[in-house]
Amino acid sequence: MKIKSIKSYRLRAPLGDQLFYSSQAMFPERNSYLVRVETDSGLVGWGEGGQWGPAEPVATVMDAVLAPRVIGRDPTEPVRIWEELYGYTRDYGQKGTYVEAIAALDIACWDIAGQAAGMPVGKLLGGRFRDSVAAYATGCYYPQDYHDMPAMLRALEAETTGYKGSGFGLLKIKIGLLTLAQDIERIRVIRDAVGPEIGLLVDANHAYTAASAVRMGRMMEPFDIRFFEEPVPPEDRDGYRKVRSENPIAVAGGECEFTRYGFRDLIAGGCVDIVQPDLAACGGFTAFREILTLANCHNIGTVPHVWGSGIAVAAALQAIATIPAFPFTAQAIPLLNEPVVEFDRKHNPLRDELLNERFELVDGRLAVPQGPGLGVTVNEEVLARYAV
Ligand SMILES: [Mg+2]
Repeated sequence: MKIKSIKSYRLRAPLGDQLFYSSQAMFPERNSYLVRVETDSGLVGWGEGGQWGPAEPVATVMDAVLAPRVIGRDPTEPVRIWEELYGYTRDYGQKGTYVEAIAALDIACWDIAGQAAGMPVGKLLGGRFRDSVAAYATGCYYPQDYHDMPAMLRALEAETTGYKGSGFGLLKIKIGLLTLAQDIERIRVIRDAVGPEIGLLVDANHAYTAASAVRMGRMMEPFDIRFFEEPVPPEDRDGYRKVRSENPIAVAGGECEFTRYGFRDLIAGGCVDIVQPDLAACGGFTAFREILTLANCHNIGTVPHVWGSGIAVAAALQAIATIPAFPFTAQAIPLLNEPVVEFDRKHNPLRDELLNERFELVDGRLAVPQGPGLGVTVNEEVLARYAV
């Protein structure tokens, strides 16, 4: 089997008045870069590259650098293709856009390899430990007018009361845009609204110095926070180590990290308790498998990050299905020893409309697609609607 054509899709879905903030930026739209790989046998594979931001850089790398090198290659050899593309772009790649483009191609090749073998990618990678994955809700973003504290707290209370009885056992909330005291006030309102049953996770999107993060971790301790995501910038390895050793909450990170090399430094460097590779950023399934092995060697959890279109979610579910318990026990408990999947609660038509299949939450869990490859198919009409 040979790759016959590679086509890039830049998708953009404006959010209108549903825009929101993290600690880093306003999100006025959803963006995704998708690649469609077609073979001479008629099989078509899909991949996604990058977790947010404009799709143009990844599209340019794919179209100008990678695609000409893989036309005519056998897509059922994704590991070989990965090594050759990474080696070819190493001098100027290593992280960021180049690896995101390799990730997109890798996901599409595994999709094709799974279809050729007649099995889902999770099975092709060695087997599925689970057919569904406990989902955590991501919500409590900052509104446009985040200076109006009373209005924000009222909206938070209304939003989070809705999570009670929703099936979600875990809720991830944003912190880091306001003062420590203001964010603690938000957490207090959220904890009161959801009650003691729902586990809370916090995500600072690398908003703090290590000293501030340690202080924030101690201030958050009474609210039973299960993990503290990206407390400091991804390059600050010493800061990560300080936060991990001096704050009482488990430290998570890795959505801005790339390949086995980047994760080697994060994991073996003792920076995190939970590692969060994003399939569409870290280098696809091929890199994910290597990162998982590194994490297993250090007895830390692997909980992939996912924030993209339906293709990224399907890839994440296939990958998460293959993660063994960390460590092995006779009972799987979400997050304690069992991976969970991120299910963002903000409007995302690129996730919820793009596929012919739907991701449906049943008893707080998302089913891992059963069909061959990624197990999902793209609705080409919807694709055309959001393609730039
Ligand atoms: Mg995050």
